[in-house]
Amino acid sequence: MQPSVANGRQAAFPGSDVDILKNYIGGQWVPSRALDTVDVHNPARGVVIAKTPLSTAQDVDTAVQAAKNAFHAWRDTPPVVRARTMFKFKMLLEEHFEELSRLVTTEHGKTLPESRGSVRRGIECVEVACGAPSMLMGYGLEQIATGVDCQVMRQPLGVCAAIAPFNFPAMVPLWFLPFALVCGNTFILKPSEQVPLSQRLIFQLLEQCDLPPGVVNLVNGSREVVEAICDHPGIRAVSFVGSTPVAREVYRRGTHAGKRVQALGGAKNFIVVMPDADLDKAIPAIAESFYGCAGERCLAGSVLLPVGQAHRAARDQMVDAARSMRIGDGVEPGIDMGPVISARHRERVLGYIEKGRAEGAELVLDGRGVRVEGQPEGFFVGPTIFDRVAPSMAIGRDEIFGPVASICPVRDLDQALSLVHAHPNANATSIFTSSGKAAREFARLADASMVGVNIGVAAPMAYFPFGGAKDSFFGDLKVHGRDTFDFYTDKKVTISRWF
Ligand code: NAD
Repeated sequence: MQPSVANGRQAAFPGSDVDILKNYIGGQWVPSRALDTVDVHNPARGVVIAKTPLSTAQDVDTAVQAAKNAFHAWRDTPPVVRARTMFKFKMLLEEHFEELSRLVTTEHGKTLPESRGSVRRGIECVEVACGAPSMLMGYGLEQIATGVDCQVMRQPLGVCAAIAPFNFPAMVPLWFLPFALVCGNTFILKPSEQVPLSQRLIFQLLEQCDLPPGVVNLVNGSREVVEAICDHPGIRAVSFVGSTPVAREVYRRGTHAGKRVQALGGAKNFIVVMPDADLDKAIPAIAESFYGCAGERCLAGSVLLPVGQAHRAARDQMVDAARSMRIGDGVEPGIDMGPVISARHRERVLGYIEKGRAEGAELVLDGRGVRVEGQPEGFFVGPTIFDRVAPSMAIGRDEIFGPVASICPVRDLDQALSLVHAHPNANATSIFTSSGKAAREFARLADASMVGVNIGVAAPMAYFPFGGAKDSFFGDLKVHGRDTFDFYTDKKVTISRWF
């Protein structure tokens, strides 16, 4: 059944076809108490398509009360029944796969194949959550002393919340929501205010999953909502994904308030190309890593480290690959790269290109002048390549989160590793080589937590842990995989003796 379009929306002003989004609290779509809104754009066209209300701490409190009220009945619901709601959710996501993928492209700008890939990755999280009855099992030992037994049971925490970034509007919230629910928790999501529409659709599907009111809640907004989530005494655990400064602050503030927090931050990912790499296979994968999703991936390649004589050939082939990309509206067939998220972000990326030039890097491909026919208002930046970048330059140091590649030639693998180690971020890194020894050494010694060997985007699947190290991750337990069942449960130990 297709939900009514009235769900989750209210007209921004009389006669307007741009909606102010509603929140979903206690099983109802309710208007936010917000006094202000943020425009949501279709970044390929540069037009406003909705407005996100900047909800208040009071809205968060209402959601927490609804989630608290729902908790006791939900935790008592057998895990197998909770898992069945996830089977239903998965079925609805499959039925709406194309609609959801198109919505991701509309509000984010990535190409339709990229959106489909990200929605598929999100659905895989729901599939893994369906295995909760097995994953939630505890363990025990009889006769730990004469007549005494010991049992460990996993129990849900209570109300959990997640705060999402703009770059994967459907997928990132699904890193958390299905796992929190199957573990018996109730849940509050705050999507990115820049891309709230995919989650509106996902919550319309959740509405059809027979979840009791208050089990899942959606609060739109930005900073005030995040701060209220961190501070609210009724919330037991917070998951955050976004930039490093905010991740660090959410971790500090949430843990200070006594919560369990996992906060995933920004990235600056290095890709090493050894002289023995098979460039014909490596460069397409590397170009996809740097330019896929317009560089707006936390796993995107950012700095290319060609070793020794790999430099010239790797650079020339990168330039050829980048030049051949078709830039445009991601809903059109044959488009390789869409726009960046906003006019403001476009200005930021262009600012880095200017800084790179000013700091003396060699601009070998300039994406600033790109024009897309029929879309003069789109937030496009063409693929850009700098050669001879020093790690101290802004483009070699900062996360740009756009289609800008920095090439930094190095002598040997040791020098490559020392540059990787010197950077404060440590999300993902990759090596391209035909040497098992070099690959092994790199994978063992690189301090990023996700390592690719002849893989450009080292993205762990839903049944493996996802998350970085150093300033790319604040917390202990990573996202999805087995870690998620530890994050969303407490382990209760019962020691018993019967007289
Ligand atoms: P962001 O940090 O600006 O925003 C993330 C969330 O925090 C949003 O929901 C936003 O509303 C909120 N927020 C923003 N500023 C805030 C503030 N001052 N106080 C409280 N809350 C605030 O990140 P973004 O621009 O939406 O996303 C891009 C960033 O996310 C990049 O740095 C990228 O590397 C990172 N990211 C990391 C991963 C990962 O797995 N490590 C995955 C995806 C994205």
